[in-house]
Amino acid sequence: MAGDADAIVVGSGPNGLAAAVTLAAAGLCVRVIEGAATPGGGCRTEELTLPGFRHDVCSAAHPLAVASPFFRRFDLAARGVRFAHPQVVYAHPLDGGRAGVVTRSVADTAARLGEDAAAYRRLMQPLADGGMEIADAVLSSMRRPPRYSPALAVYARLGLRSAVAVARRFRTEEARGLFAGVAAHTVLPLDASLTAGVALLLGSLAHTVGWPVVEGGSARLTDAMVEAIAAAGGQVETGHWVRSLADLPPTAATLLDVSPRTFLTLAGEALPARYRDALARFRYGPGACKVDFALSGPVPWRNEAARQAGTLHLGGSFEEIAAAEAQVARGQHPDSPCVLVVQAGVADPARAPQGQHALWAYCHVPSGSAVDMTARIEAQIERFAPGFRDLVLARSTRTAADEEASNPNYVGGDIACGAQTVRQLLARPVARWNPYRTPLRGVYLCSSATPPGPAVHGRCGELAALTALREVFGVRQPPDLGRPFMPATTPGPLP
Ligand SMILES: Cc1cc2nc3c(=O)[nH]c(=O)nc-3n(C[C@H](O)[C@H](O)[C@H](O)COP(=O)(O)OP(=O)(O)OC[C@H]3O[C@@H](n4cnc5c(N)ncnc54)[C@H](O)[C@@H]3O)c2cc1C
Repeated sequence: MAGDADAIVVGSGPNGLAAAVTLAAAGLCVRVIEGAATPGGGCRTEELTLPGFRHDVCSAAHPLAVASPFFRRFDLAARGVRFAHPQVVYAHPLDGGRAGVVTRSVADTAARLGEDAAAYRRLMQPLADGGMEIADAVLSSMRRPPRYSPALAVYARLGLRSAVAVARRFRTEEARGLFAGVAAHTVLPLDASLTAGVALLLGSLAHTVGWPVVEGGSARLTDAMVEAIAAAGGQVETGHWVRSLADLPPTAATLLDVSPRTFLTLAGEALPARYRDALARFRYGPGACKVDFALSGPVPWRNEAARQAGTLHLGGSFEEIAAAEAQVARGQHPDSPCVLVVQAGVADPARAPQGQHALWAYCHVPSGSAVDMTARIEAQIERFAPGFRDLVLARSTRTAADEEASNPNYVGGDIACGAQTVRQLLARPVARWNPYRTPLRGVYLCSSATPPGPAVHGRCGELAALTALREVFGVRQPPDLGRPFMPATTPGPLP
């Protein structure tokens, strides 16, 4: 490999690409090296089932991309990326054709919740009003206290609590089910600390920015970043797994969009023993088993509003979902799992041939599981949408073990690249003031195993790149991401 890049980024997930975009915007010559055949990591779209069905391979719903300070500065709209918003942000179907239904309006959502209307409004209105302040605080390195705002004060008071504790204020199955569904995104038992924080963050963003899909598929986000890097004279090369840092060409800065486990392998004995031990103690969460369906028509949800929902959480009552997630945490495969579903076609019909639909679904399973959950996922959809199975033209399943085999960042199939516990909120991946810096000079971690953690927001990459710019290249001012970047003309570190 030729050694003419100022910086090398290993891994082209949203964080690797955000790091590369940030470095390129500062005028550096950047090279991204990706092991998979296509760039994007958890942000790709492929015809997984039949020709003409465009499935989001991993991420599909993008509240955190829309709210992300990185993507806001990168100006996705100017780069041709359009978000498509479903009429119903998310729904929680229940037996008998009932459902909890969340729309962009807090008042409308509350009005559908019967005796929980006032409780929903009281909890969510202040958070929705200050949704961007909350997003800015959460999507940070979490090393400095954020500026006070009323929304943040509410969020700080409730966020560290468990979903079980916060959901006690609701009485209806609809409101409690809605809370359980969003809390389940933590992949933790619902009585664990912090599960309320994720539920309140995602719940407030439903009202503040929505949970859109990307028109044409999540890969458009990846394309926009790859194009910006190329326009600046950088390179994204695929199909090249990096096995050791020693194999990389000499460069001033190396940013690693990899798991702590992979970093241990890549660096080997070069890392001090204490740091190695700390990385080895990093805990991974349960896995995910994902099924993509090609359907001959829309899913026949019994609940009318659910037919317009971009995202659905299946599994029934709060208690049923809590039981399913607790089983997963105990290493069991629930018979009635909590299933997350995205029907992108309600907002972006071009995802499938006319009248047909591409459906995305996954459930949580124990770490490393090779169990195929397709039948259990289908049974859960069929429970709330009788006749669903008759629509299935083709399906494509990836077990948790398959997830890890296709992307080493998903250790044991953990799509968050690290359990989202309170400890690992603060020490992600290890307890350090600057979590992106490693003991190796010029080597930085930038994957979602660093703050602010999982989802497509690019902030781990951006914050790691800003550290590298400061420490290696003496660039203190964050570069302007919104303008077309100038191609790097002179390889070599900036003065
Ligand atoms: C099934 C599933 C559903 C999800 N749904 C959502 C969602 O709806 N919304 C959302 O916001 N997020 C979602 N996520 C999470 C989101 O995709 C991740 O949090 C995000 O992609 C993390 O970005 P990253 O850049 O840190 O890592 P990744 O996206 O995992 O990218 C890491 C990249 O590095 C490459 N790599 C690793 N090691 C090496 C090596 N040694 N050499 C070369 N290349 C290497 C990998 O091949 C990969 O391309 C989902 C994830 C999955 C799997």
